[in-house]
Amino acid sequence: VPSLDVAAVRADFPILARQVHGRPLVYLDNAATSQTPRQVIEVFDDYYGRYNANIHRGLHTLADEATAAFEGTRETVRAFLNAAESREIIFTRGTTEAINLVAGAWGRANLTPGDEVLVSLLEHHSNIVPWQLLASELGIVIKVIPVDERGVLDLDAYRALFTARTRLVAVNHVSNAFGTVNPVGEMAAIAHAEGALILVDGAQATPHQKVDVRDIDADFYAFSGHKVYGPTGAGVLYGKAELLEAMPPWQGGGEMIKSVSFETPTTFAAIPHKFEAGTPAIAEVIALGAALKWVDALGLEAIGAWEQRLLAHATARVSRIDGLRILGTAPGKAGVLSFVVDGAHSQDIGLLIDQLGVAIRTGHHCAQPLLTHFGVDATCRASFAAYNTLEEVDVFAEALERVIGMVR
Ligand code: PMP
Repeated sequence: VPSLDVAAVRADFPILARQVHGRPLVYLDNAATSQTPRQVIEVFDDYYGRYNANIHRGLHTLADEATAAFEGTRETVRAFLNAAESREIIFTRGTTEAINLVAGAWGRANLTPGDEVLVSLLEHHSNIVPWQLLASELGIVIKVIPVDERGVLDLDAYRALFTARTRLVAVNHVSNAFGTVNPVGEMAAIAHAEGALILVDGAQATPHQKVDVRDIDADFYAFSGHKVYGPTGAGVLYGKAELLEAMPPWQGGGEMIKSVSFETPTTFAAIPHKFEAGTPAIAEVIALGAALKWVDALGLEAIGAWEQRLLAHATARVSRIDGLRILGTAPGKAGVLSFVVDGAHSQDIGLLIDQLGVAIRTGHHCAQPLLTHFGVDATCRASFAAYNTLEEVDVFAEALERVIGMVR
């Protein structure tokens, strides 16, 4: 496995030099949002300082340059996901908008009362609530794929949930709350054999492992730029071309039309532009491209392997803490450490550990059904990225011990 030069990686992140409450920042909330390397930050200066213009419509130099950079990013994303064609890449604000696009366009056009959508108990609210909204609108039925005590999806139960009415499986590739890596390729094969489609929420997978949408045979695959070292405001929906072509538009506006008339029916642009109404987040999309190139230069294999070392070290270190219980113990899970501590509220731990410069996440992680199932309403979550160090893990573990001593 290739290794990372973590010191060199860290040097790319200006924010890692800052202090919080007088101590060096230890940033372990990467599953919520990753930090941004200067190669990505610089895109904003370059874009707004040199070639800020609206895309696709202008004939002038700046518009050409902006369009080329924006459309060039589509090709970068295509290669990143190993999609067959760049027109299968739609830019969205993020994973949430990508899933809502599928629910709104594909769902409304294809689902009828009584049709079934399977979602897993591991889902983020963004892969639950759009289907619930559709259920109240269309009368579709949501069925839940259960998990075992480790937070691993029960594939036998999954198989048993299919009926003649099952139309879609909506599942995350990696759970943000527990780090479970789901066998989405196998799940896709099962879904397809049953005549259903599969939408994969890849928000937590793309930062940690190489994703190949054709190998998975995903029908739709969504991710967010800000979790993969890119900016907020730019994300991706991948969809198979024939599915996207058959779908009606989702939002109406400029950019997504072929011709508009009051006399004859308005006609729509070809994919991907049919699904990109209005002026997109141009600088953010270009910056997302820079982030994916930055990731590719390091290599996801090296990043994932390093995060596994951090996770192993953190797991060993916090396991010594009396009364600490780790939630989510799936084999091969991603770099996410979720835990609760007897006699110490997660919220208190989060607030106090911040005083020591350590940023972790506390709360329900937008996965309330999962946490409720495990009998908790909040956990503490440390999640790792390429720039974290073993020393930071030690600082975190020592700070955690101190904080627990204070609140118990
Ligand atoms: N799915 C998963 C698994 C996530 O972790 C997140 C973000 N926490 C989302 C979806 C939503 O992503 P965004 O808020 O960027 O749209």
